[in-house]
Amino acid sequence: MTFIIETRDVSYSYGDGIEAMRGVSISLDEGRKIALVGPNGAGKSTLMLMFNGILRPTTGEVLFHGQSLRYDSASLREIRRKVGMVFQNSDDQIFAPTVYQDVAFGPVNLGYPEEKVKRYVGYALAYVGLLGYERRPPHHLSGGEKKRVAIAGILAMEPEVMVLDEPTSNLDPASSEEIMDMLDELNCGGKTIIISTHDVELAYRWADEVILMENGGVLCRGTGQEVFKDSELIRRARLKLPIVVDIYKELVGRGLLNGSNPPRNVLELTDLVEARSRGTISRGATGTIHIADVDKVGPDEIKGILDEADISYAGAMGTSAKVLAEQVGISLDFTYGVIDKCILKALTGKNSLIMTSGGMVDHSLRRIRGYGEESGSRIEAVKLEPPAGSRADSKKQEASGPKYSMEHAGMAQ
Ligand code: ADP
Repeated sequence: MTFIIETRDVSYSYGDGIEAMRGVSISLDEGRKIALVGPNGAGKSTLMLMFNGILRPTTGEVLFHGQSLRYDSASLREIRRKVGMVFQNSDDQIFAPTVYQDVAFGPVNLGYPEEKVKRYVGYALAYVGLLGYERRPPHHLSGGEKKRVAIAGILAMEPEVMVLDEPTSNLDPASSEEIMDMLDELNCGGKTIIISTHDVELAYRWADEVILMENGGVLCRGTGQEVFKDSELIRRARLKLPIVVDIYKELVGRGLLNGSNPPRNVLELTDLVEARSRGTISRGATGTIHIADVDKVGPDEIKGILDEADISYAGAMGTSAKVLAEQVGISLDFTYGVIDKCILKALTGKNSLIMTSGGMVDHSLRRIRGYGEESGSRIEAVKLEPPAGSRADSKKQEASGPKYSMEHAGMAQ
């Protein structure tokens, strides 16, 4: 089996002789959400910059799909298209006078004809929710908007892998959630996403795989549960435990819970507590989770379900769902971790609505059903169907564009 990215015994020294990386060998699977986690100076950025040849290892080698990276200019152009890099500071990445020109930079450099550049830029901007911003000067945008422009610039080149250095640093909580939600959506469409962060909460709840780094090397790797189970290792890396793990350990310490694996999130923690107190508490009927595919149902159907189904909470995943929510005038209760939050509410008897699109629709259904099977709690998940002959058919367009748009932004099918 080949990995999408692999490093073999990679070391790197900056010009001043500082050895920033020491013999790092890691292999990354395709289609996963991977977080490089470590304190400042651990070597996360240095490692990431090697993934697409921006830095060349002093010793060792980097492979993409099993092939060693080559560093001639044609090979570098190719790898940088396939492995897109979003820098920590958007101002290091965005330099054109308008948003359009900035996002068009990659496709123009790839030699695409003007019409194709226009189409790809349009798709990328729609995907990140910035249609209408084309003529705006990027340096006047907010931090979150700049990050979206940087992501759109990468998306317009249709990368296989997206590498984001500290994607949420300097962003407010809402903007951070929007960026992470967008990365989930892209991953759901098959892209491999690699982020670096020292935010353990973010890494723990988001990543399929955590690679813990310190002092230019890898301390350990595994699922968030595997890596963050080891308090001593986390302390050595000058990080702290995610709050849900911390609470779990305290409950275990007091004999209120037992178990060997920490819960992944609040939902699992409350399940553990509930399982422990079974017999002493009783639960009433569970609520229903309604799922609306915004590529298929329109504002009328969504308003209809809000009126009919006694919906207490609404959440949206993905840009097109959030845009529609705004159009319909729905104030969203959840914009990140939406599925689990709706499950938590269903367990307290409340109905909710999840607005989403593309592969995220089936992902939501699978997650809710999977939860039901695992926990034995029956939660009904209902997919909102479009009325026959309605929007679903009329939305079919013949235009072809980048794959991520067709699958996710609901702009072409
Ligand atoms: P992280 O991303 O985990 O914060 P970095 O990869 O940025 O870590 O840094 C790893 C080490 O390399 C640190 O000691 C840092 O000071 C050093 N370093 C990073 N960039 C440079 C540079 N451009 N010149 C010299 N040293 C650098």
